[in-house]
Amino acid sequence: MPPRPDPAVIELDGVAVAVVRRKMRRLRLVVLPPDGRVVLSAPKWVARRELIAFATAKADWIRFQQARIRALPRPTPIDYVAGEGHPVWGRTCTLAVADGRGRARVALDGDRLVITVPAAADRATRARALADWYRAEATRAIGPLIAAWEPALGVTVAAWTVRRMTTRWGSCTPRTRRLRFNAELAKRRPELLEYVVVHEMAHLVEPSHNARFKALLTTHMPDWHARHAELAARPITRRLDAG
Ligand SMILES: [Zn+2]
Repeated sequence: MPPRPDPAVIELDGVAVAVVRRKMRRLRLVVLPPDGRVVLSAPKWVARRELIAFATAKADWIRFQQARIRALPRPTPIDYVAGEGHPVWGRTCTLAVADGRGRARVALDGDRLVITVPAAADRATRARALADWYRAEATRAIGPLIAAWEPALGVTVAAWTVRRMTTRWGSCTPRTRRLRFNAELAKRRPELLEYVVVHEMAHLVEPSHNARFKALLTTHMPDWHARHAELAARPITRRLDAG
C-alpha cells in the first residue's frame, strides 16, 4: 500500500497548504509572511476533498499572495552603530555615536542623528535612547497639529498619547475623546503624521469609516487618499530591534 498522505497538508502542485482544524464556521485561507506559508483553517466537519477543491480554486490567489509577500523588503537587524541609516520624518539620517556621561541623549544635526551615550553603553541602551527620541519627536509634532485642527474640525481632544505600536498608526476612542498615536510616525513624512492626526480627530465626528467619514476627510484634506496610500505602502517597522 502506498503511504497515506499527511492529512494535515494538502499538496497543491508545488504549494503545501497546511490544514488546521478549528472550531469555526467557515474556511479561512491565509498566506503568511515572511516566507509565504499557506494555512487553511477549517471546521472539523468539512471533508478533505472539499478542502482540496477549495484550495485548488484559490491556487492563483495563493501564488499571487506568495509572490507579493516574498517581494516585501525583509527587515534587517539594526545595531545602532555609527554609519547606519535611520529614517527621520521621511529622510534617511546617518547615525553618529558620541561618547558622553550620564543619561543617553539624541540630537538631530542636519542629516546626522547623534546618540550620546557612555562608551560602554550596550546596543539595548542605544536602541532605547533612539526609541525614546522618536516618541518625543512625534509628541512635539502632534501637539500643534491637534491645536490647529480642533477649530477646523470643530472637535476637542480630551487626551492623547504617543506609544510604540506594532499594528496601527493611531486609534481613537470617541466616547472618551482620547487619541493614541504611533511613535513610528516620526520616521515618515510629516504630511503622513498630519493625515493620521486628522483621521483620528475626524473619528470624534464620525466613529466609523463610512461615507460620511470619508467626505469629512475629503473636505478638510483633499489629498488624504494619497497620504493614506503612502502610509500603507510600507508596513510599520517590525520589532527586530527590541533590544
Ligand atoms: Zn480610522
